[in-house]
Amino acid sequence: MSTLRFKAVEEAMGRKAVPVEVPEERPETLYGKKVFNRQKMFEYLPRETFDVLVDSIDNRKPLPREYADSVAAGMKKWAIDNGARHYTHWFQPLTDGTAEKHDSFIEHDGKGGVVEKFTGKMLVQQEPDASSFPSGGIRNTFEARGYSAWDISSPAFLIGETLCIPTIFISYTGESLDYKTPLLRALNAVDKAGTRVARFFDPEVKHVNAYLGWEQEYFLVDEALYSARPDLALTGRTLMGHESAKNQQLEDHYFGAIPSRVEAFMFDLELEGHKLGIPVKTRHNEVAPNQFELAPIFEEVNLANDHNLLIMSVMREVGKRHNFRVLLHEKPFAGINGSGKHNNWSLGTDKGVLLFSPGKTQKDNLQFITFVANVMAAVHKHNALIKASIASATNSHRLGANEAPPAIISIFLGEQLSHILQNIVDDKVNLELSDKESVTVGVNQTPEILIDSTDRNRTSPFAFVGNRFEFRAMGSSTNCAASMLALNAAVADQLNIFADKIEEKVKTGEDLNVAILDEVKSLIEKSKPIHFDGNGYSDEWKEEAARRGLDCETSAPKIFDAYLSDSSKEMFSRTGVLTEVELEARNEVKWEMYTKKIQIEARVLGDLAINHILPVAKRYELTLLDCVKKTTDLFPPEKAAELSEDDMETIEKIVGHIKVIKKEVNEMVNARRIANKISNEREKAIAYHDTVLPHMDTIRYHIDKLELMVDNEIWPLPKYRELLFIR
Ligand code: ADP
Ligand code: MG
Repeated sequence: MSTLRFKAVEEAMGRKAVPVEVPEERPETLYGKKVFNRQKMFEYLPRETFDVLVDSIDNRKPLPREYADSVAAGMKKWAIDNGARHYTHWFQPLTDGTAEKHDSFIEHDGKGGVVEKFTGKMLVQQEPDASSFPSGGIRNTFEARGYSAWDISSPAFLIGETLCIPTIFISYTGESLDYKTPLLRALNAVDKAGTRVARFFDPEVKHVNAYLGWEQEYFLVDEALYSARPDLALTGRTLMGHESAKNQQLEDHYFGAIPSRVEAFMFDLELEGHKLGIPVKTRHNEVAPNQFELAPIFEEVNLANDHNLLIMSVMREVGKRHNFRVLLHEKPFAGINGSGKHNNWSLGTDKGVLLFSPGKTQKDNLQFITFVANVMAAVHKHNALIKASIASATNSHRLGANEAPPAIISIFLGEQLSHILQNIVDDKVNLELSDKESVTVGVNQTPEILIDSTDRNRTSPFAFVGNRFEFRAMGSSTNCAASMLALNAAVADQLNIFADKIEEKVKTGEDLNVAILDEVKSLIEKSKPIHFDGNGYSDEWKEEAARRGLDCETSAPKIFDAYLSDSSKEMFSRTGVLTEVELEARNEVKWEMYTKKIQIEARVLGDLAINHILPVAKRYELTLLDCVKKTTDLFPPEKAAELSEDDMETIEKIVGHIKVIKKEVNEMVNARRIANKISNEREKAIAYHDTVLPHMDTIRYHIDKLELMVDNEIWPLPKYRELLFIR
């Protein structure tokens, strides 16, 4: 029975690191080799086209139509020079990950042969037959047209022999059907609003950019072991499996030496990343066994997000070359840490000033405090929405479960910044109006001092870390755009409200700095409930957060409701990021995805319980029964009873577990049947959460108990100790 398991274990144990071909080129020349970046644009485009394109990119304007053909011609030439035969519009549907539909460059030449062609129209507009991508009903299947169009702010790149063009995906009537479109709108909104506010401090500012540095956590599992675990292969996580006696107690994995097989994989991945222009920089072990992290240097949000999505798919491919499966699921294994994706986020001006970074002059520091206070106000006001933006079926295993971060959004500021903000509230700052440099807000530390990583609170979902905020609640498998668009839109909206107020006050003759400081003070006071520097894992915090009026909902389908609250709808509409129709459609998709994920897991668990686990448990029970029977035959009754005592006890336990598992599986199937009849997507998702999920936990509990009892020789699935400790 367990030959498959032992074969897999043997195969995994025997593996050595796969050597990586080390290119002669250093990173400087390797970097961006597969990207149609500015250098390539300069080389392949006519000068005028290049200038127009760069101007469009830098100033966030659409590319004038008349230049599309010229850009396409240059891009095609570069791609073909590098071996391309196909092209694809690479987009981000509302499901996970990315989607692509490949077309060859060939067209009839009218003489019975073909020519390779790629026009401006093909670059700017495609109609993928995308009727099966979820659209939440915006685009019904009769009218299945969606458009994709190149996002010029993200350069095209090559994967194998395919030219990939990062695109937005919208319906025929202009509604977004993807993540990129609203993200770009949100970045645009935060640019405009941020610039308004930044100009109070420096009238020369033209743009405010948002930056993102993601840290991607993941697990590696040997290919053979992965294949012997149908639950991993079908759902991305183990639906059963007793904790290994040794897991992460010794904390010996974190920052430990990277195993050679893994190091070879990481190196290979970095090379691929660099060729694709992804500035991968950091790699290390994570807390859990077989868990690792990868982080690049931060970039502008839209590009950083494309790079994150791209690296997630490159990881999978490179992993296979090294006989690994990359697990991006938030919780592949119970009992040890799950995986997240920290989003380091900041705003900065086109003049290179980081707006969450304290500066050298008091004026810079007033600007710094202004932006921080506005972020606090935005996150406070929209804390339910920000939480909704990171909620999913898979991330629910981390949030609010036995692991950080809690399903409550709060902001960690640290001792120094808290102190500064308190001083402002207490009017302990002097404001000498005669000298524009003498607005003292009490920030006289240098940035280096404020960047204090020692007191970083790991339990906070949203922490100030010296020159940026680290939003840590993201799931490892998600598209960061979901949270980045919500956060940037909320902050943009708040900055506009702030700018309106200040402009109004200045109009009535108030001094600019006085007006700013007054308003900042009021923002700090009003958003006080979002500030929490304590232990986010504690039960006291949950009670305290509820008292403070923060959103404490833990059920993902209900958390999604926050997208449709009045304050969210109004905020998204004011900033032009998402319309009500889009919000409603997107929530339909979220609920549907939630249901489907749980549905698949429940089915897989039910099948495995019935065909893998119960037969083996039964077999072991029979072995024990046989033993008892033979003992009874051979020994006098009293002696036999004594000798069989332990076996009898085990048999009873096994029978007990089998009974519960059978009953629970039946009830789970029934619960699914009832839930499937519900036509409202929200209600259905709630039914799955409330009535299907609990059975899964119980079934798992009993299977894991059986794993401890049944003869190791016949247990059919690789165990945690095998999955997690074999290199
Ligand atoms: P940690 O100590 O949190 O693990 P890492 O060095 O692994 O830190 O990752 C920090 C990430 O934050 C990197 O991607 C880094 O480029 C990024 N980062 C640094 N400064 C900023 C900033 N101002 N804005 C956005 N991201 C930043
Ligand atoms: Mg970090």
